[in-house]
Amino acid sequence: MARAATATINLDAIRHNYLLAKSVAPEQGALAIIKANAYGHGAVEVANALSKDVDGFGVACIEEAVELREAGIRLPILLLEGFFTPDELPIISDLDLLCAVHSAEQIDIIANAQLNKPITAWLKLDNGMHRLGIAPSEYKAAFTKLSALPQVEHVVLMSHFSAADEPELSTTAEQINLLDTLAAELNAPISMANSAGTLEHANARRDWQRPGIILYGATPFAGAHPLADQLKPAMTLSSEVIAVREIQPGESVGYSATWVCDRPTRVGTVAMGYADGYPRHAKNGTPVLVDGHKSQIIGRVSMDMLAVDLTDIPDANVGSYVELWGENLPAAEVAAYCDTIPYTLFTGITRRVHKKYS
Ligand SMILES: *Cc1c(COP(=O)(O)O)cnc(C)c1O
Repeated sequence: MARAATATINLDAIRHNYLLAKSVAPEQGALAIIKANAYGHGAVEVANALSKDVDGFGVACIEEAVELREAGIRLPILLLEGFFTPDELPIISDLDLLCAVHSAEQIDIIANAQLNKPITAWLKLDNGMHRLGIAPSEYKAAFTKLSALPQVEHVVLMSHFSAADEPELSTTAEQINLLDTLAAELNAPISMANSAGTLEHANARRDWQRPGIILYGATPFAGAHPLADQLKPAMTLSSEVIAVREIQPGESVGYSATWVCDRPTRVGTVAMGYADGYPRHAKNGTPVLVDGHKSQIIGRVSMDMLAVDLTDIPDANVGSYVELWGENLPAAEVAAYCDTIPYTLFTGITRRVHKKYS
């Protein structure tokens, strides 16, 4: 049979997580953010599974939006990074896409565009993250100019939080206040909140929420959180033990012998490596589950394989089921051992891994 490396995607969990995000502000809109192939979960499959429940979707770029339209998705789709080249604007108009606008240059390009229908622009404020957006001092003038264009029908006010996952900081309150102050004189809907903003900052829940990572069941927070703790993991990354051997104290496992055993050790080799998207920098001790029992990574992760310690799981053998993260092992816990966040684990899964939907 085939190599067992598999990402099983639980679409019901994604639906549950969306509804949890929506439940905190049911009267307002929530765009399900499915950029980057739905954070590695499959954009078309996730969009189809959610389309009865959601108010719309958010993606990073027009290629991602076109893929959804071609798959028959008719709901609103927001381009979170707006357009990159002027030739995208007629497509944005024809496909009815919502479009972030983040610079004065883009407003000029829209002013010169020939469009069949006016578009909806989400005018992005740079609220201090200094990534994309119009500076606060120029925001109101940009709004006035953009709203007056015949190519523009509606304008939504948009910002993005840089630290909403760190509730102990005052950053988010300041960023909320900044857009509110500017918005006070502008009659337009507002969108601020990503996942962490949606769950943690009641005052950030406005006309449109933009939850991403929580749809996939991973918490954006470092610690426990009453809402995030109700999320259901959507992706279970699994494989199998393909070889078992005993080694003696002083012997090592893997490239560069970074792990040396201090007791007789049963080593299990698992068909999962960094070419599947499992992080190479997973430290010795990174948790995995073997037949449901806690085990750990020993030695360096190779391209196609990694090793786990089976000494305390005597029944484990060739063919044993290995969960790398998912239903029973939070991706956030694994990510912490890899100096990263669940976002990179999910988006890093490669096409060699079989995807299964349940
Ligand atoms: C990716 C993204 C989101 C979703 O962020 P999460 O942290 O995954 O919830 C929201 N808004 C914008 C502008 C984004 O780029």
